[in-house]
Amino acid sequence: MKKTLFLFITCLLISCKSSYLDSKKSAVLLDITREVDSNAFVNIKNYSKDFVFDMKYATADNFLKEKVYPCDECFLRVKTVKALLEANKSFITKGFRIKLYDCYRPKSIQKKMWKIVPDANFVANPKKGSIHNRGGAVDISLVDSVGVEVDMGTKFDFFGEEASHKYQNLSPEILANRKFLKETMLLYNFKSFDSEWWHYNLNGSNKDELSNQKWHCQD
Ligand SMILES: [Zn+2]
Repeated sequence: MKKTLFLFITCLLISCKSSYLDSKKSAVLLDITREVDSNAFVNIKNYSKDFVFDMKYATADNFLKEKVYPCDECFLRVKTVKALLEANKSFITKGFRIKLYDCYRPKSIQKKMWKIVPDANFVANPKKGSIHNRGGAVDISLVDSVGVEVDMGTKFDFFGEEASHKYQNLSPEILANRKFLKETMLLYNFKSFDSEWWHYNLNGSNKDELSNQKWHCQD
């Protein structure tokens, strides 16, 4: 009881409400170009139905073997969503679509992940944070027109040299798939990350602040 009262008073003082993102789904698709605050966090599901979602950390099917997100929402800053929508449009004209594995990750969840695996080779130290904590990073792959995942050579979050863009000992088809993903993402203002073929940062997003906004889940 004492603890609840303490939490309640703390919430009143620091306004706990403001640390939650609006997870309400819009009945109609919204237009991202009408969003004026490019740094605001939005749910990408309100702006497009053309993405495939496979949010690994909202399930136990990840290297932590633990579900660390309450549900599979994908929040990102408006500018990241804008760039990603454009990249996806380009993939769609070629018969593919982006599949999302991870988007914005609140700092508190970064801490939780670090607690499970406190090793900087696998998880970013929450003291430093990652671009995922800044709303500018996405972990993605591609699916073809019938929804089959394109072969990228390794699974998402495979920790080994085979996941690196520098690793060349792969079939010509896999190398071409990775190149296709990378070249398109680079065209739309993203930067690749050498050791993970799936990770892309919006250019300049390393300058944005770390964020710890959580979200409520809807039924
Ligand atoms: Zn990532």
